[in-house]
Amino acid sequence: MVAVSSPGNSSPPLSGLHLLLTYQCTFECDHCFVWSGPFQTGTMTLDTVDHILAEAERLGTIEWIYFEGGEAFLYYAILRSGVLRAKAQGFKAGIVTNAYWANSEDDALEWLQPMAGSIDDLSISSDSYHGGIDGDSNPEIARAAARQLDIPVDFISVAEPETTGTLPPGESPVLFRGRAAELLASKVPPTPWQQFTTCPWEDLRNPQRVHVDPFGHLHICQGISIGNLLERPLAEILADFRPDEHPIVGPLLDGGPAEIVRRYELAHEDGYADHCHLCYLSRRSLRSRFPDVLAPDQMYGRA
Ligand code: SF4
Repeated sequence: MVAVSSPGNSSPPLSGLHLLLTYQCTFECDHCFVWSGPFQTGTMTLDTVDHILAEAERLGTIEWIYFEGGEAFLYYAILRSGVLRAKAQGFKAGIVTNAYWANSEDDALEWLQPMAGSIDDLSISSDSYHGGIDGDSNPEIARAAARQLDIPVDFISVAEPETTGTLPPGESPVLFRGRAAELLASKVPPTPWQQFTTCPWEDLRNPQRVHVDPFGHLHICQGISIGNLLERPLAEILADFRPDEHPIVGPLLDGGPAEIVRRYELAHEDGYADHCHLCYLSRRSLRSRFPDVLAPDQMYGRA
Protein backbone atom coordinates (compact mmCIF):
# COMPACT_ATOMS: atom_id res chain seq x y z
CA MET A 1 0.00 0.00 0.00
CA VAL A 2 1.37 3.40 -0.98
CA ALA A 3 0.30 6.55 0.80
CA VAL A 4 0.87 10.13 -0.30
CA SER A 5 2.10 11.05 3.14
CA SER A 6 5.59 10.46 4.47
CA PRO A 7 6.45 7.31 6.44
CA GLY A 8 4.91 7.37 9.89
CA ASN A 9 2.02 9.58 8.83
CA SER A 10 -1.25 7.92 9.85
CA SER A 11 -3.51 9.98 7.54
CA PRO A 12 -5.82 7.92 5.32
CA PRO A 13 -4.28 7.07 1.94
CA LEU A 14 -5.57 8.17 -1.45
CA SER A 15 -8.92 6.43 -1.93
CA GLY A 16 -10.60 8.25 -4.82
CA LEU A 17 -9.63 8.87 -8.43
CA HIS A 18 -11.89 11.26 -10.34
CA LEU A 19 -11.52 10.85 -14.09
CA LEU A 20 -12.21 13.99 -16.11
CA LEU A 21 -13.48 11.90 -19.02
CA THR A 22 -13.78 14.97 -21.22
CA TYR A 23 -13.38 18.72 -20.93
CA GLN A 24 -16.36 19.10 -23.27
CA CYS A 25 -19.82 19.89 -21.94
CA THR A 26 -23.27 20.71 -23.29
CA PHE A 27 -23.34 23.79 -21.07
CA GLU A 28 -20.87 26.61 -20.48
CA CYS A 29 -21.63 27.41 -16.84
CA ASP A 30 -20.37 30.62 -15.29
CA HIS A 31 -19.29 28.78 -12.14
CA CYS A 32 -17.34 25.98 -13.87
CA PHE A 33 -13.88 25.30 -12.38
CA VAL A 34 -12.53 23.72 -15.52
CA TRP A 35 -13.74 26.00 -18.32
CA SER A 36 -15.84 23.22 -19.84
CA GLY A 37 -18.08 23.94 -22.82
CA PRO A 38 -19.22 22.67 -26.22
CA PHE A 39 -16.03 23.80 -27.96
CA GLN A 40 -13.53 22.66 -25.34
CA THR A 41 -11.01 19.97 -26.33
CA GLY A 42 -9.56 16.93 -24.55
CA THR A 43 -11.32 13.57 -24.16
CA MET A 44 -10.05 10.28 -22.72
CA THR A 45 -9.72 7.22 -24.90
CA LEU A 46 -10.75 3.82 -23.59
CA ASP A 47 -7.04 2.90 -23.59
CA THR A 48 -6.38 5.78 -21.19
CA VAL A 49 -9.29 4.73 -18.96
CA ASP A 50 -7.88 1.18 -18.88
CA HIS A 51 -4.41 2.48 -18.05
CA ILE A 52 -5.75 4.58 -15.18
CA LEU A 53 -7.79 1.67 -13.80
CA ALA A 54 -4.72 -0.59 -13.95
CA GLU A 55 -2.68 2.05 -12.10
CA ALA A 56 -5.43 2.41 -9.50
CA GLU A 57 -5.52 -1.34 -8.98
CA ARG A 58 -1.73 -1.49 -8.65
CA LEU A 59 -1.76 1.25 -6.00
CA GLY A 60 -4.02 -0.86 -3.80
CA THR A 61 -5.72 1.94 -1.83
CA ILE A 62 -8.28 3.28 -4.33
CA GLU A 63 -11.92 2.51 -3.48
CA TRP A 64 -13.82 4.94 -5.70
CA ILE A 65 -13.52 5.74 -9.39
CA TYR A 66 -15.62 8.72 -10.48
CA PHE A 67 -16.37 9.65 -14.06
CA GLU A 68 -16.97 13.35 -14.57
CA GLY A 69 -15.95 16.23 -16.83
CA GLY A 70 -17.12 18.28 -18.55
CA GLU A 71 -20.13 16.09 -19.23
CA ALA A 72 -19.20 12.41 -19.15
CA PHE A 73 -22.38 11.23 -20.93
CA LEU A 74 -21.21 13.02 -24.11
CA TYR A 75 -18.88 10.03 -24.60
CA TYR A 76 -21.44 7.46 -23.56
CA ALA A 77 -19.75 4.32 -24.95
CA ILE A 78 -16.50 5.14 -23.15
CA LEU A 79 -18.36 6.09 -19.96
CA ARG A 80 -20.38 2.86 -19.96
CA SER A 81 -17.32 0.68 -20.61
CA GLY A 82 -15.33 2.59 -18.01
CA VAL A 83 -18.00 2.14 -15.34
CA LEU A 84 -18.42 -1.58 -16.09
CA ARG A 85 -14.67 -2.15 -16.15
CA ALA A 86 -14.11 -0.21 -12.92
CA LYS A 87 -16.80 -2.28 -11.25
CA ALA A 88 -15.37 -5.54 -12.61
CA GLN A 89 -12.02 -4.57 -11.09
CA GLY A 90 -13.61 -4.19 -7.68
CA PHE A 91 -13.94 -0.41 -7.42
CA LYS A 92 -17.05 1.55 -6.51
CA ALA A 93 -18.11 3.68 -9.48
CA GLY A 94 -19.62 7.15 -9.45
CA ILE A 95 -20.75 9.53 -12.19
CA VAL A 96 -21.28 13.29 -12.12
CA THR A 97 -23.65 14.59 -14.82
CA ASN A 98 -25.90 17.50 -15.74
CA ALA A 99 -28.56 15.02 -16.97
CA TYR A 100 -28.90 16.71 -20.39
CA TRP A 101 -29.77 13.24 -21.71
CA ALA A 102 -32.87 12.75 -19.55
CA ASN A 103 -35.51 14.15 -21.91
CA SER A 104 -38.15 11.70 -20.69
CA GLU A 105 -38.24 8.98 -18.07
CA ASP A 106 -38.22 6.25 -20.72
CA ASP A 107 -35.18 7.87 -22.34
CA ALA A 108 -33.42 8.19 -19.00
CA LEU A 109 -34.04 4.51 -18.21
CA GLU A 110 -32.56 3.60 -21.58
CA TRP A 111 -29.37 5.57 -20.84
CA LEU A 112 -28.97 4.24 -17.30
CA GLN A 113 -30.12 0.63 -17.66
CA PRO A 114 -26.85 -0.69 -19.18
CA MET A 115 -24.98 0.58 -16.12
CA ALA A 116 -27.61 -0.27 -13.47
CA GLY A 117 -26.04 -2.39 -10.76
CA SER A 118 -22.62 -0.90 -11.50
CA ILE A 119 -23.19 2.74 -10.48
CA ASP A 120 -22.71 3.31 -6.75
CA ASP A 121 -23.38 7.04 -6.88
CA LEU A 122 -25.03 9.23 -9.51
CA SER A 123 -24.49 12.91 -8.69
CA ILE A 124 -26.69 15.22 -10.75
CA SER A 125 -25.96 18.93 -11.10
CA SER A 126 -29.19 20.81 -10.51
CA ASP A 127 -29.00 24.55 -10.06
CA SER A 128 -29.71 27.74 -11.93
CA TYR A 129 -26.37 27.53 -13.81
CA HIS A 130 -27.37 24.19 -15.37
CA GLY A 131 -30.85 25.26 -16.35
CA GLY A 132 -32.31 23.44 -13.37
CA ILE A 133 -34.61 24.57 -10.55
CA ASP A 134 -36.72 27.06 -12.53
CA GLY A 135 -35.46 25.78 -15.88
CA ASP A 136 -35.92 22.36 -17.40
CA SER A 137 -36.74 19.20 -15.46
CA ASN A 138 -34.02 16.86 -16.75
CA PRO A 139 -32.36 16.46 -13.33
CA GLU A 140 -35.68 15.42 -11.74
CA ILE A 141 -36.37 12.98 -14.59
CA ALA A 142 -32.88 11.46 -14.27
CA ARG A 143 -33.31 11.13 -10.51
CA ALA A 144 -36.66 9.36 -10.88
CA ALA A 145 -35.19 6.92 -13.42
CA ALA A 146 -32.16 6.24 -11.21
CA ARG A 147 -34.46 5.47 -8.28
CA GLN A 148 -36.45 3.04 -10.43
CA LEU A 149 -33.20 1.23 -11.17
CA ASP A 150 -32.01 1.32 -7.53
CA ILE A 151 -29.07 3.55 -8.43
CA PRO A 152 -27.99 5.70 -5.45
CA VAL A 153 -28.59 9.28 -6.59
CA ASP A 154 -28.27 12.81 -5.26
CA PHE A 155 -28.21 16.40 -6.48
CA ILE A 156 -25.26 18.81 -6.50
CA SER A 157 -26.36 22.46 -6.25
CA VAL A 158 -24.15 25.53 -6.27
CA ALA A 159 -25.58 28.67 -4.68
CA GLU A 160 -25.77 32.03 -6.44
CA PRO A 161 -22.59 34.06 -5.75
CA GLU A 162 -24.55 36.83 -4.04
CA THR A 163 -25.96 34.39 -1.44
CA THR A 164 -24.88 35.55 2.01
CA GLY A 165 -25.17 33.94 5.43
CA THR A 166 -26.18 30.31 5.84
CA LEU A 167 -26.64 28.55 2.51
CA PRO A 168 -29.92 26.79 1.74
CA PRO A 169 -29.83 23.06 2.65
CA GLY A 170 -27.98 20.98 0.06
CA GLU A 171 -26.28 23.94 -1.61
CA SER A 172 -22.54 24.61 -1.73
CA PRO A 173 -20.86 27.96 -2.30
CA VAL A 174 -19.36 29.15 -5.58
CA LEU A 175 -15.58 28.84 -5.47
CA PHE A 176 -14.06 31.54 -7.63
CA ARG A 177 -11.60 29.54 -9.70
CA GLY A 178 -11.62 28.72 -13.40
CA ARG A 179 -14.41 30.45 -15.28
CA ALA A 180 -16.01 31.56 -12.01
CA ALA A 181 -12.92 33.68 -11.26
CA GLU A 182 -13.42 35.54 -14.53
CA LEU A 183 -17.21 35.84 -14.63
CA LEU A 184 -18.55 35.81 -11.07
CA ALA A 185 -15.90 37.23 -8.73
CA SER A 186 -17.04 40.83 -9.27
CA LYS A 187 -20.45 39.93 -7.78
CA VAL A 188 -19.11 39.70 -4.21
CA PRO A 189 -17.33 42.38 -2.15
CA PRO A 190 -13.52 41.93 -2.13
CA THR A 191 -11.60 40.84 0.97
CA PRO A 192 -8.00 42.10 1.51
CA TRP A 193 -5.59 39.64 -0.15
CA GLN A 194 -3.43 39.26 2.98
CA GLN A 195 -6.32 37.48 4.71
CA PHE A 196 -6.19 34.44 2.43
CA THR A 197 -3.62 32.50 4.43
CA THR A 198 -4.89 28.92 4.02
CA CYS A 199 -6.42 26.63 1.44
CA PRO A 200 -9.78 25.93 3.08
CA TRP A 201 -11.02 23.29 0.62
CA GLU A 202 -8.32 20.76 -0.27
CA ASP A 203 -6.16 18.51 1.89
CA LEU A 204 -2.99 19.39 0.03
CA ARG A 205 -0.67 17.38 2.25
CA ASN A 206 -2.68 14.14 2.35
CA PRO A 207 -5.31 14.20 -0.40
CA GLN A 208 -7.90 11.45 -0.22
CA ARG A 209 -8.99 12.07 -3.80
CA VAL A 210 -7.36 13.57 -6.87
CA HIS A 211 -8.50 14.27 -10.41
CA VAL A 212 -6.88 12.85 -13.54
CA ASP A 213 -7.54 14.40 -16.95
CA PRO A 214 -7.38 13.10 -20.55
CA PHE A 215 -3.73 14.21 -20.83
CA GLY A 216 -2.71 12.30 -17.70
CA HIS A 217 -2.28 15.29 -15.38
CA LEU A 218 -2.93 14.35 -11.77
CA HIS A 219 -4.62 17.40 -10.23
CA ILE A 220 -4.45 17.93 -6.48
CA CYS A 221 -6.76 20.87 -7.16
CA GLN A 222 -7.98 21.72 -10.64
CA GLY A 223 -5.01 23.19 -12.53
CA ILE A 224 -2.32 22.12 -10.02
CA SER A 225 -0.57 18.98 -11.29
CA ILE A 226 1.55 16.71 -9.10
CA GLY A 227 2.63 14.47 -12.00
CA ASN A 228 1.54 12.82 -15.22
CA LEU A 229 -0.08 9.41 -15.00
CA LEU A 230 0.58 8.68 -18.67
CA GLU A 231 4.31 9.21 -18.10
CA ARG A 232 4.93 7.70 -14.66
CA PRO A 233 3.24 5.07 -12.47
CA LEU A 234 0.71 6.44 -10.00
CA ALA A 235 2.50 4.83 -7.05
CA GLU A 236 5.77 6.49 -8.08
CA ILE A 237 4.17 9.94 -8.45
CA LEU A 238 2.61 9.67 -4.99
CA ALA A 239 5.73 8.26 -3.34
CA ASP A 240 7.81 11.13 -4.79
CA PHE A 241 5.31 13.87 -3.92
CA ARG A 242 6.94 16.28 -1.46
CA PRO A 243 4.19 18.79 -0.67
CA ASP A 244 6.49 21.35 0.94
CA GLU A 245 8.85 21.31 -2.05
CA HIS A 246 6.13 21.60 -4.71
CA PRO A 247 6.31 25.13 -6.24
CA ILE A 248 2.59 25.81 -5.68
CA VAL A 249 1.50 23.38 -2.95
CA GLY A 250 4.52 24.42 -0.83
CA PRO A 251 3.55 28.09 -0.53
CA LEU A 252 -0.13 27.18 -0.16
CA LEU A 253 0.73 25.02 2.86
CA ASP A 254 3.02 27.70 4.21
CA GLY A 255 0.59 30.60 4.06
CA GLY A 256 -2.25 30.02 1.59
CA PRO A 257 -2.75 31.93 -1.67
CA ALA A 258 -1.29 35.06 -0.02
CA GLU A 259 2.01 33.22 0.33
CA ILE A 260 2.08 32.47 -3.44
CA VAL A 261 1.87 36.24 -3.99
CA ARG A 262 4.66 36.92 -1.49
CA ARG A 263 6.92 34.03 -2.53
CA TYR A 264 6.90 34.99 -6.20
CA GLU A 265 6.51 38.75 -5.67
CA LEU A 266 3.40 38.89 -7.84
CA ALA A 267 1.52 42.02 -8.80
CA HIS A 268 -1.92 41.94 -7.15
CA GLU A 269 -5.13 43.81 -6.45
CA ASP A 270 -6.06 44.98 -2.96
CA GLY A 271 -8.83 42.42 -2.56
CA TYR A 272 -10.27 39.20 -3.97
CA ALA A 273 -13.59 37.36 -3.85
CA ASP A 274 -12.25 34.34 -1.95
CA HIS A 275 -9.18 32.16 -1.40
CA CYS A 276 -9.61 30.41 -4.75
CA HIS A 277 -9.89 33.69 -6.64
CA LEU A 278 -6.47 34.86 -5.42
CA CYS A 279 -5.01 31.36 -5.83
CA TYR A 280 -6.28 30.91 -9.39
CA LEU A 281 -5.19 34.35 -10.66
CA SER A 282 -1.77 34.00 -9.00
CA ARG A 283 -1.27 30.57 -10.55
CA ARG A 284 -2.36 31.81 -13.96
CA SER A 285 0.32 34.49 -13.85
CA LEU A 286 2.95 31.83 -13.03
CA ARG A 287 2.12 29.40 -15.83
CA SER A 288 5.13 30.21 -18.03
CA ARG A 289 7.40 29.62 -15.03
CA PHE A 290 5.87 26.26 -14.06
CA PRO A 291 4.33 24.93 -17.30
CA ASP A 292 4.27 21.27 -16.22
CA VAL A 293 2.65 22.02 -12.87
CA LEU A 294 0.09 24.67 -13.90
CA ALA A 295 -1.50 22.63 -16.67
CA PRO A 296 -3.21 22.04 -18.98
CA ASP A 297 -4.40 25.08 -20.96
CA GLN A 298 -7.98 23.85 -20.55
CA MET A 299 -7.85 24.55 -16.79
CA TYR A 300 -6.88 28.14 -17.49
CA GLY A 301 -9.45 29.00 -20.11
CA ARG A 302 -7.71 28.06 -23.32
CA ALA A 303 -8.79 25.21 -25.59
S1 SF4 B 1 -7.23 27.88 -2.45
FE1 SF4 B 1 -6.26 27.16 -4.36
S2 SF4 B 1 -5.64 25.06 -3.98
FE2 SF4 B 1 -7.15 25.64 -2.40
S3 SF4 B 1 -9.14 24.96 -3.23
FE3 SF4 B 1 -8.90 27.11 -3.79
S4 SF4 B 1 -7.96 27.06 -5.86
FE4 SF4 B 1 -7.69 25.01 -4.93
